[in-house]
Amino acid sequence: MQDTPSESPASFAELMLAEPLLRAVAQMGFSQPTPVQQKAIPAVLAGKDLLVSAETGSGKTAAFLLPALQHLIDHPSSLFGTRVLILTPTRELASQLFEQCQALAVFTDLKASLIIGGEDFKQQQGYIRRNVEILIATPGRLLELLAQESPDFMHLQLLILDEADRMLDMGFNEAVMKIVQHCNPKRQTLLFSATLTHYGIIKLADKLLNNHQTIALNSLHDGHGNIQQSIMLADDDSHKQKILAWLLLNEDYEKALVFTNKRIRTDELQNPLRVLGLRVAVLHGEMEPRERKRTMDLLRNGLVSIIVATDLAARGLDVKGINLVVNFDVPRNGIDYIHRIGRTGRADATGQAITLVNHIEWNVISGIQRFLHQSFEQRLVKELAGSFKGPKKQKASGKATGVKKTVEEKKVPVKKIKIRDRDKKNVGKRRVPTVKVAGEPQS
Ligand code: AMP
Repeated sequence: MQDTPSESPASFAELMLAEPLLRAVAQMGFSQPTPVQQKAIPAVLAGKDLLVSAETGSGKTAAFLLPALQHLIDHPSSLFGTRVLILTPTRELASQLFEQCQALAVFTDLKASLIIGGEDFKQQQGYIRRNVEILIATPGRLLELLAQESPDFMHLQLLILDEADRMLDMGFNEAVMKIVQHCNPKRQTLLFSATLTHYGIIKLADKLLNNHQTIALNSLHDGHGNIQQSIMLADDDSHKQKILAWLLLNEDYEKALVFTNKRIRTDELQNPLRVLGLRVAVLHGEMEPRERKRTMDLLRNGLVSIIVATDLAARGLDVKGINLVVNFDVPRNGIDYIHRIGRTGRADATGQAITLVNHIEWNVISGIQRFLHQSFEQRLVKELAGSFKGPKKQKASGKATGVKKTVEEKKVPVKKIKIRDRDKKNVGKRRVPTVKVAGEPQS
């Protein structure tokens, strides 16, 4: 879920922070909360798990420290044990975080400790034993300490992963997951990352966050290095079905995911694909959890190679070998797009994400490209070329002129797809070159 509060609070006092924190903020010279602080602080205080994209320099550190401190003030505990654990990738970042934490907590009784490599191991063992309320650590050193000391993270209320994308890049994924195993499963978890379009971030969010809210503030320039993204234009649903069938019969993939916006469409697409000899299953929110698990196992074990799914059902789907994602319907927004394509392009593998776009969806895909600061390649299967070639006139934003957002797409009944026998024999094997179309959409 992407949240965009209609009116953001304009001052720290309006964020309902306690007086000692307001005093500290004033002493540090912060006159107004930054955008990430305005959005994240109320959400953290409401107890939400969060996935936040925010860069260094945006004020993200105080965006999680302030509500963390507020939480500790609001819920004093006589229990022994660390209550807030913050993981960050480097010593430098951890030290800066520690300093900012001390400055913000200066008028409270709350105490923080710092666990980083290169510092006295014995002293840090003492910190773990003392179970300070707030622990700020780099994953590598914390894991080393955990091998010798058993920490009390079972009363942990808040786990914060700062610069999570960098932690993954530095190879801390396993260390983080091992640390998480020591933590209270009922904790609140916040995941901060400079980008959400990192192959591992969506998967980490799936594993660690519970019914989370996504806050995307920065532009998401970097793209998915290992996912080739493209769009294919289509005239209507039946044209899309032909393109989909062609892709599933001709592209080179091990496992594929096809996304639709509506549950009913998953069923509609399944049968015509099965008729072509493709091994397909569906996954949607109205299925019993047992049934969903069975379907995932079918995909995992290779008994089916294609899943047609809705967004909600596919969250948390982490299966090896998914190297083709087809958006039969253009996702409703950039966050859903990121979540969908995050199913492919695992750490060491490459993937393909293809979005089928009709004239009504053109503006949505333009908006997604602007949101990501990316321009997707436009592909065409020559023998399936349709009449829609993109809007005749475009605004500077890439949007079509004169297309109303509210127009509802007319439903086209599902037709049997005619595919030549030659193609049937080559399911999932052959890769036919496609034509690149000049004049990519503006972003
Ligand atoms: P960060 O993005 O957390 O690394 O913060 C970047 C810098 O902005 C740090 O030096 C903070 O002290 C400062 N900062 C954080 N919040 C505010 C604010 N609301 N007003 C002014 N400066 C801030």
